[in-house]
Amino acid sequence: MTLTRTEVRSLLDRYGIRPKRSLGQNFVVEPNTVRRIAELAGVGSGDRVVEVGPGVGALTLALLETGAEVTAVEIDDVLVEVLGEVAGDHVALRIVHADAMEVDWGVLLGDGPWTLVANLPYNVSVPLVCDLLDDVPAIVRLVVMVQLEVADRLVAGPGDDAYGLPSVKVAYHATAKKVGRVPPSVFLPRPRVDSALVDIVRRPEPTVEADPEVLFRLVRAGFGQRRKMLRGALRGLVDEAGLVAAGVDPTLRAEELDLGQWAAIAAGVAR
Ligand code: SAM
Repeated sequence: MTLTRTEVRSLLDRYGIRPKRSLGQNFVVEPNTVRRIAELAGVGSGDRVVEVGPGVGALTLALLETGAEVTAVEIDDVLVEVLGEVAGDHVALRIVHADAMEVDWGVLLGDGPWTLVANLPYNVSVPLVCDLLDDVPAIVRLVVMVQLEVADRLVAGPGDDAYGLPSVKVAYHATAKKVGRVPPSVFLPRPRVDSALVDIVRRPEPTVEADPEVLFRLVRAGFGQRRKMLRGALRGLVDEAGLVAAGVDPTLRAEELDLGQWAAIAAGVAR
């Protein structure tokens, strides 16, 4: 069971909800789409799923339908109320009224493994994915629907236009691939752009040995001035000799370096 377009419309009307752009409120109104997401996540009985931004509950119901236990974190108090009506009596659902950017995930989830499955709000999708990868090892997989442009940033590699700090962060912690495209027509209200599904699987250990604090200080500085050569963009953090010692040409730009090269530079830099 999940929600049809008519059911979502009627819930929004009944609660007097006008979707807030500031909270990325584009609700899925196409049952096949939420079922497809639940299927891609491959979760079922005995699995624990955390959903960020359940909204009126279309995806939540599809996830519950698989037999998984779902913890749903929603920031909007009216939507928490709606979700209570739609699915609140389901024994496998825990509704948490909180800002996903502020929640104490360690306390909320305890030990893993958890799978995050979500149609993420646009406003926080990139920082949330990055923070969860950095700080919440209990989440071992993330199956997320995001704007296409965000999906491209998460999965990009060296040389791609979308390659940047989030791409390096994802590559450091996980493998990631785009697993489908979703048109604006499945949402209410319709966004202006296409969305995409991204499957992010955490690695047991990062593939490079590097102090993450040093590594991402360098990556942030490098992409902060992405058109500059590394010898300029990283000035004050590592000198030209340090780049050469790491086997990296100082005339390259941040967008040309893979994770291994970033780690090689980081290895020569003190904390
Ligand atoms: N899951 C629903 C669906 O697929 O129809 C709604 C997805 S909608 C794109 C994003 C949801 O995230 C909204 O319900 C919004 O209120 C919620 N949200 C936005 N920012 C949030 C935050 N910081 N923490 C938790 N929920 C948030």
